[in-house]
Amino acid sequence: MTIVQEVKHDALQAAQQYVDDVYAAIVKRNPDEPEFHQAAKEIFTSLVPALAKHPEYMKNGILERIAEPERMITFRVSWVDDQGKVRVNRGYRVQFNSAIGPYKGGLRFHPSVNASVIKFLGFEQIFKNALTGQPIGGAKGGSDFDPKGKSEGEIMRFTQSFMTELCKYIGPDVDIPAGDIGVGAREIGYMFGQYKRIHGGFEAGVLTGKGLGYGGSLARKEATGYGLVYFVEEMLKAKGLGFAGSTVVVSGSGNVAIYAMEKASQLGAKVVACSDSNGYIYDPNGIDLDTVKRLKEVERQRIREYVNVHPHAEYHEGCFGIWSIPCDIALPCATQNEINDVSARALVANGVKAVGEGANMPSTLEAIDVFLNNDVLFAPAKAANAGGVAVSALEMAQNSMRLAWTFDEVDAKLKQIMTNIYRNSVDTAAAYGHPGNLVVGANIAGFIKVADAMVAQGVM
Ligand code: NDP
Repeated sequence: MTIVQEVKHDALQAAQQYVDDVYAAIVKRNPDEPEFHQAAKEIFTSLVPALAKHPEYMKNGILERIAEPERMITFRVSWVDDQGKVRVNRGYRVQFNSAIGPYKGGLRFHPSVNASVIKFLGFEQIFKNALTGQPIGGAKGGSDFDPKGKSEGEIMRFTQSFMTELCKYIGPDVDIPAGDIGVGAREIGYMFGQYKRIHGGFEAGVLTGKGLGYGGSLARKEATGYGLVYFVEEMLKAKGLGFAGSTVVVSGSGNVAIYAMEKASQLGAKVVACSDSNGYIYDPNGIDLDTVKRLKEVERQRIREYVNVHPHAEYHEGCFGIWSIPCDIALPCATQNEINDVSARALVANGVKAVGEGANMPSTLEAIDVFLNNDVLFAPAKAANAGGVAVSALEMAQNSMRLAWTFDEVDAKLKQIMTNIYRNSVDTAAAYGHPGNLVVGANIAGFIKVADAMVAQGVM
């Protein structure tokens, strides 16, 4: 080994030791939070080359600090159901990091929500938001409330009660929530109304994902799904491939899934399957998106109803089977850990060429290894689904300027942002010795921006 190689080797070893020590401390300090541990492990592992190159981050205790939320709020949400019974849920907001801008991140209403889920989502949001190039910090929130089967009145009463407490901690320059699983335009509308009622002023910039009539942005609804497809298209283009003529499988049938299917179809792909939390549909003729939109966006039905309209299609109970359908491109757009190593191997055996994560952390660590070891093009969530929050930041900009851009203007900016994120991730991966590995590239690129700001602002 030359002297230069030895120094490099020592630096990598020191960085690896630092990462291992901080990770062990996180696991000890946050017991029973497996999703948070998983997110920390995925990010920390890929940061070793960056820490070796920038020992000042270790000296400044950046990992110890970045993994500890600046503030974590939990609160009681009481409401009365249609039978007059008092119900109690738990609300959360984790304000994880404000080094580069006000806290920003969605709200999730789902029975699986707990501190671990909110912290993994908030932690990932720090790096994702930095990657967009917009001045926004990382946050996330939500509740274990299950919107499924609730009446309009129940949704409104719960949501108002939730905002009555949350409003004490947010504001257009402090913390700007948005939607996520179970929180769409309807819930954002009720929350915006309640915030306005309590604060007594029209502060459009306090929430994003608003309706178009009261400060929302055109193309916000489409942004995460379209952005995902723009990112994957860039990744495919670099290998001389594209969506045109390809077969695509998409999981989920919510906001992200629907608009990923729409853009993939517009680019000439055939989307043959999608799902909800009960099961999946397979339509060899290509999914009829108008039917899915009517069932999910208007009637709030189960996806199995699709086969009543299209009897040639198949419905299968359970979620994992969808990954056994042969496809060129897989876009998981439902929830965390929906692709395990078994599903990943099934996709590889059927010749999948690219996987683009629309959901947050949909692939387990083992599944990611399967994709990377088999040369599958892999677009990690942090980079690939950043289009939603990027357009949320554009919504904030329009609110501040009190003007509204056209759909095409916002869509063009979204496309440019996704292309920039792709290039930044590719360049960073190469610069840190992992060419082609977008997991490493995206994590390091997002991390460095936040870490530099934390160093500049001193220990706090
Ligand atoms: P929606 O609530 O609109 O849709 C979620 C979809 O996933 C539904 O089809 C839902 O089925 C399904 N799903 C939810 N939980 C599970 C589960 N445990 N197992 C199987 N399927 C499930 O949410 P979004 O489309 O907004 O969000 C989807 C993913 O994308 C999440 O990971 C979210 O964090 C991520 N994301 C969303 C962004 C956005 O702008 N909305 C931005 C960036 C990331 P069912 O209806 O049966 O519950």
